[in-house]
Amino acid sequence: KKLNAGWNFDNSYARLPDVFYSEMTVNPVSSPSLVKLNNDLAKTLGFNREQLQSPVTIQILSGNKVPEGGFPLAQAYAGHQFGHPTMLGDGRAMLIGEQITPTGERFDIQLKGSGRTPYSRGGDGRAALKPMLREYIISEAMHELGIPTTRSLAVVATGEKVVRETDLPGAILTRIAASHLRVGTFQFAASLDSKKDLKAIADYAIDRHFPMIEKDGNRYLAMFKEVIKRQAALIAKWQLVGFIHGVMNTDNMTISGETIDYGPCAFMDSFHLDTVFSSIDVQGRYAYGNQPKMGGWNLARFAESLLPLFHDDMEKAVELAQKELYEFNTFYQQHWLDGMRGKLGLEAETEEKDAELIEKLLGIMQNNQADYTDTFRALTLGEVEKLELSKNQAFIDWHKDWKKRVESQEGGEEGARERMKKHNPVVIPRNHLVEAALDAAEGGDLSVMEELLQMLSQPFAYTKEQIEYGVAPQQVNPSYKTYC
Ligand code: AMP
Ligand code: MG
Ligand code: MG
Repeated sequence: KKLNAGWNFDNSYARLPDVFYSEMTVNPVSSPSLVKLNNDLAKTLGFNREQLQSPVTIQILSGNKVPEGGFPLAQAYAGHQFGHPTMLGDGRAMLIGEQITPTGERFDIQLKGSGRTPYSRGGDGRAALKPMLREYIISEAMHELGIPTTRSLAVVATGEKVVRETDLPGAILTRIAASHLRVGTFQFAASLDSKKDLKAIADYAIDRHFPMIEKDGNRYLAMFKEVIKRQAALIAKWQLVGFIHGVMNTDNMTISGETIDYGPCAFMDSFHLDTVFSSIDVQGRYAYGNQPKMGGWNLARFAESLLPLFHDDMEKAVELAQKELYEFNTFYQQHWLDGMRGKLGLEAETEEKDAELIEKLLGIMQNNQADYTDTFRALTLGEVEKLELSKNQAFIDWHKDWKKRVESQEGGEEGARERMKKHNPVVIPRNHLVEAALDAAEGGDLSVMEELLQMLSQPFAYTKEQIEYGVAPQQVNPSYKTYC
């Protein structure tokens, strides 16, 4: 027992019908070494920190060894990629087991970059160091921002090269998730044309994420409703911090309501609804301003997969689904408006003009390439004179209206600004900061990333260091691109 790092597995996914996964054996790598370990998360999961840094654990986190009680598998799923239906599955990842934490919670432990699987199609199953560290940084930042997300336990360098446009150092990320069930998992299930299998995965999702749903009644519709609520809340949170997922394909939308798959994602500097960073999103399908709409689109695909479970009569099933789907926008708008009120320190929900005040500010920001995070930060700090916008007449007028509005509340502007600190992060993983951290890390210097992670660990603390560190870059790279 003393030698055990704390692995405590119960592999419920492996008890699903065989079609849902492929059992895996190890794909060893030559000389793994630990690059980054998330100590806090390790503790939460019930791991012994020292044992987790031991050679045997590094063998496990690199996929060379299966821990006791583990059951490595690659999950089958499908998905609409940029609107086109595709058969997918874990092509470069495997679930090694479900960890039961000391408090009884269940988390998937997945290795990303662990080699080829039956779902790899043409791919090599591997991942490069920089994108894995990128996922580590951004997923942890999201968590600290209070946004539901998968998390990152570790990054291990494989000691091997991956062949991309150039040879790059390879790595494996240990990803922690409430589950890896996706809209695409249900699309896969629906494609099997077996109500029994579809039911099996739906019951599994309910057990795992929505245990409050009663056995009787239309429980699959109830599940759909819950997923709608969680995704509406999630996407509103993305919009509020200026997060652009970049590849909201249906296989990258979870049932749990966690953000998943940090590939070409990025945070927006200058506010613009059309902002796109992903090199492959040439049409702007997943632009910042499109994210809520695409969320709704994905949920419609989810509904289609579930129709046979909603009602035996297809027409009735469609009717039921559409009724729920309409709610997505209502939920989303409510979350967004609540969040925006928080960002501007506006109390009292009855103020009908708030939406107008908010939209006006966003319009001014968009017309003037104003930095999104900085604008809210400056309002929070009472330092709008430091903004470029402070010379803009439309903003000056808006600012007067805003002052009048918050001064009409108890606590006045000062009270509002104090509350705004809980809603406006002082620091986000800005593109230039992330890139600098990754470049240094690739060259063997992890200190830049450590400083960034430190700054991101309490994004609402407003320390002096953070205020300086988190400021917008002097010059935004207008052609900044991200990659899958
Ligand atoms: P994503 O765009 O990251 O959601 O990935 C879409 C699909 O491509 C998933 O099924 C991945 O597992 C697969 N995939 C991505 N990169 C690789 C790779 N290097 N080798 C094999 N499969 C991959
Ligand atoms: Mg994916
Ligand atoms: Mg990806």
